[in-house]
Amino acid sequence: MNTCYATERKVESVVTSERTLEGGGFPVRRPFPTAALMQVDPFLLLDHLGPVKWGPGEGIGAPDHPHRGFETVTYLLSGGFQHKDSAGHSGKLAPGDVQWMTAGAGVVHSELPSDEFMRDGGVMHGFQIWVNLPARDKMVKPRYQDIPASRIPQSQSADGKVKVRVIAGEALGASAVIDTHTPITYLHYTLAPGARTTQALPIDHNALVYVFSGTALVGSESRAVREGQLAVLGAGEAIALAVDAAQSAPAQLLLLGGAPLNEPVARYGPFVMNTHEEIRQAVRDFQTGRMGRIMPS
Ligand code: FE
Repeated sequence: MNTCYATERKVESVVTSERTLEGGGFPVRRPFPTAALMQVDPFLLLDHLGPVKWGPGEGIGAPDHPHRGFETVTYLLSGGFQHKDSAGHSGKLAPGDVQWMTAGAGVVHSELPSDEFMRDGGVMHGFQIWVNLPARDKMVKPRYQDIPASRIPQSQSADGKVKVRVIAGEALGASAVIDTHTPITYLHYTLAPGARTTQALPIDHNALVYVFSGTALVGSESRAVREGQLAVLGAGEAIALAVDAAQSAPAQLLLLGGAPLNEPVARYGPFVMNTHEEIRQAVRDFQTGRMGRIMPS
C-alpha cells in the first residue's frame, strides 16, 4: 500500500556531529547542542556513544551527577550499562534496552559500564537524548521507564526491506509502550539497499533524522545523509526515507519528532529550566543535598 501525503517534508539543514568526550571521558559524536545547532525543540541533546571497543577494566561511564527539568533517554545497541540513583533506583541496560528517565525535580545518578562489561570488555555503542519537559512538568517526581529489548515493539514493511523499532510514537502499524509527557516520536529504522518508506508525523511537530550507519536518502528531495550526520526537516505531513539500491550495506537511523514547547530555555550543564533564577535554585538544591546522593552499596 502506498499512502499519498499532500506535503512531504524537505531537509532544511544537515549538521555533521562534533566529536567530544562525555562523563568520565568516553567518546561521543554530538550533532547538538553545538555552535551550528543549539536544540530542536523539544530535543535538547543527542549523543551518539561510540561504537568504542574497551578492553577488560577499561570501560568509562558517567559517575555521580545530577539532572533537573528534563528527561534522559538511553538506548543501548551494544555493551552493558548499570544505573543507580539517589532515590535507591538501580537497573541494568543490555543491547536493545531503553531507559526513559524523567529527572523532573531532580535525581543524582551514575551511569557506568556493567560489572560484566568491566570484567570482559567489549564494544559499547548507543545513544542518549535529552527531551525537554514543559514548564508545568519540570518539577514532577522522577520516574523511570526501563524497557527491555523484548518489549520494544518492532515492525517491518511487506517487502522486508524496512525494519523499525518503535521507542516512542507509531510506525508501520506498531505503537510504543513508553509513555511520554508531550507527544514524542523516537524510531530506529534499518533500511536495506533499495528500501523506501514514508513516516507520518503531525504537521506541527519538529523532526530530525540522525544517520548512524551507511547513507540514507531523506526528505522530498532525497538528500543523502551520511553516518554521523543529522538532518533537520521542514514542516509537512510525512518524511520520505530511502536507501539507494546500489548501496552495499543497509542504513540505520534514528527519527525523532516532537511537539515544540515554545518556552524559554535556561540551560546550565545538567539542569534545564525556564529562567536563570530556576537554574540558580537547582544549583543550590544540588549543592545543599536536596537532590539526594547515592548511597554506597
Ligand atoms: Fe545522566
